[in-house]
Formats: sequence, C-alpha cells, structure tokens
Amino acid sequence: MAEILVYVDHVDGAVRKPTLELLTLARRIGDPVAVALGNGAADTAAVLAEHGAVKVLTADAPEFTEYLVVPKVDALQAAYEAVSPAAVLVPSSAEGKEIAARLAVRIGSGIITDAVDLEAGDEGPVATQSAFAASFTTKSRVSKGTPVITVKPNSAPVEAAPAAGAVEALAVSFGALATGTKVTARTPRESTGRPELTEAAIVVSGGRGVNGAENFGIIEALADSLGAAVGASRAAVDAGWYPHSNQVGQTGKSVSPQLYIASGISGAIQHRAGMQTSKTIVAINKDAEAPIFDLVDYGVVGDLFDVVPQLTEEVESRKG
Ligand code: FAD
Repeated sequence: MAEILVYVDHVDGAVRKPTLELLTLARRIGDPVAVALGNGAADTAAVLAEHGAVKVLTADAPEFTEYLVVPKVDALQAAYEAVSPAAVLVPSSAEGKEIAARLAVRIGSGIITDAVDLEAGDEGPVATQSAFAASFTTKSRVSKGTPVITVKPNSAPVEAAPAAGAVEALAVSFGALATGTKVTARTPRESTGRPELTEAAIVVSGGRGVNGAENFGIIEALADSLGAAVGASRAAVDAGWYPHSNQVGQTGKSVSPQLYIASGISGAIQHRAGMQTSKTIVAINKDAEAPIFDLVDYGVVGDLFDVVPQLTEEVESRKG
C-alpha cells in the first residue's frame, strides 16, 4: 500500500485529536507514516501506533521552538523525500496550513485546504470541501505532484487501529531560511480549565440573547457542569462579550461535538456553518420562529435566563 505522510500536531508529546482524525482518513487511502517534531516527539509514538501509524518519524531540535514554521517545513520536506508518499495530510490549524502551503510550493505540488472528508479515487485522493457556509460541497483532487491536503478538525472519527508504529529518527538539515523568523516571546493563554473548543465533546454557546459580557457567567456555569467548552456567536463576540477565539461559525471555529447547546442564538447561516454537523443540537430561544429551530434535535422556547440556570441545577442534581 502507498504510504501517506501525516503531520502530527502535539503539545510536548500529547497528540491533539485532529491528528488522530487524520490517521483515520489516511488509513482510507494508504498506510499512515506520522511525522512528529519538537519537544516530546518520541512520546507521541504509542498513541499514533494505536491509531494506525505504521511508522513514526521523529526529530527534535531547538530550531522547532525558537523559530517560526520554516524548520518544521524543512523537516516535513525531509520526511517527504525519505518516504516518497502518495499524499501528505496536515491538520487545518493556522500553523498547519502555513506548513502545508510552503511544502506544496517547495515540492511543486497542488494543495487542497480545509477538507472535511477524504476518500480514495482512481487518480489519487479525493477531498471534500464545504463552500459558501456549507450551502455547497465540492470534491477535488490534486492533479499536479503529490497531493498536500489540510483537513479541518472533527472531519472524521477517531478510530483505534493498532499498527506497528516503529519509531525512526528523521535526519533534518535546516536551510538558510529556517532561522529567518525568531520567536521572541510566548504568552500562554490563561487556562480556563475547559476543553479546547474544536475538540470538546459538548459545547455550550451564547449569542446576542445573552445580552452582555456579565451574563456569560450562566453559559459558563452550564458548560462547567457538563464539562463543556464555551462558544459564542459573532454578534456576542463583536459586542465584546466573549473572545474571538471562542467564536463558532464561518469566520470562527468549526465544531462538531456530540452535543451543541445554542442559547440566545438565532441560527444565521454563517453560525450554522460552524456547528451544523454537531451530533445532537439543542437550542434555547424565546422566539419560536427563530431559524435555529429548523436545525435542532431538541428546542426549548423560553427565556434563557430562566432555562439555562434550571438546566445547570438539574445537571448538578443528577451528579449525586
Ligand atoms: P441574533 O441574530 O440577533 O439572534 C439573537 C437571538 O437571541 C434571537 O433569535 C432572539 O430571539 C434570541 N434571544 C434574545 N433574548 C433572549 C432570551 N432572553 N432568551 C432566549 N433567547 C433570546 N455569525 C456567527 O455566529 N459566526 C460566524 O462565524 C459568522 N461569520 C459571519 C461572516 C460573514 C461574512 C457575515 C456577513 C456574517 C457572519 N456572522 C457570523 C453573523 C451572522 O450573520 C449573524 O449576524 C450572527 O450569527 C447573529 O448572532 P446571534 O444569533 O447571536 O444574534
């Protein structure tokens, strides 16, 4: 079977969920060979092997943390040259897309970004993309070079598929550009203790109906009682009530949790684009005609200031 390079997104050896989803997709089109770089790279091997990596190529060097993406591109290119894969898959994060684009230019290949599905085709992998706020889907394949494809989080299930996952050291020599852009400071975002929005199994979101930053506390209380992440509509973000990093939708993040609870959100197409693939959708809205109700599995017509605290209380009471 052809080998498929999978770029590993990890934090000090802890593999992030979108990479495990990439392994599921990679197995559909070939044998996944994972490329893990930086601090803790070798610690990723066990989890990657459990999810189908036949091989894990690792490299660690100070350049990966001291400089921006170019050292990582150098390493991914070295892996590409060592393996001659049939495709290269990269998570669709901001960094992942930059790495993928630079690699595609270097190896003279076409690139597809933000795929939401991937299947084998007669002439190479076929990627599905969602366009115009999910009104259309397109299917494309790369017709020049080795396909480089970035895939959005939550596009595939995480599947256990034990494989050898043999660890091999990747020899990397950095080019002149690698040290061109230095990281001068890193400021970790203050931890909320909540799961990452795009990876959370449950998301509780608030919209304009929340009516003020100070009222987001009731959304957070429900989220915390469920172990959920907090999302927000663009109206709430634009009003300055919640950070942009929590925005769900076309110009925010795409989420696909098991449960999405929308409170005081009307259900505009741009919001739907980021959450309509959620497995179960619940909306709380005082307007029975709100378009969000066309989409939901369970709808509550009511004032969120009554409903949300009651829901939190109920969840808490069931915890025993
Ligand atoms: P509204 O549409 O104003 O709805 C508020 C809802 O709250 C209403 O349905 C109301 O009945 C209900 N409500 C009010 N008070 C209460 C209460 N006390 N209890 C219960 N319900 C109550 N939007 C996004 O969300 N994400 C995006 O990424 C995004 N990208 C965009 C990109 C472009 C190019 C454009 C043009 C728009 C984009 N938008 C996006 C904006 C989008 O069109 C909507 O304006 C936005 O989603 C509306 O947010 P909302 O539902 O919170 O507010």
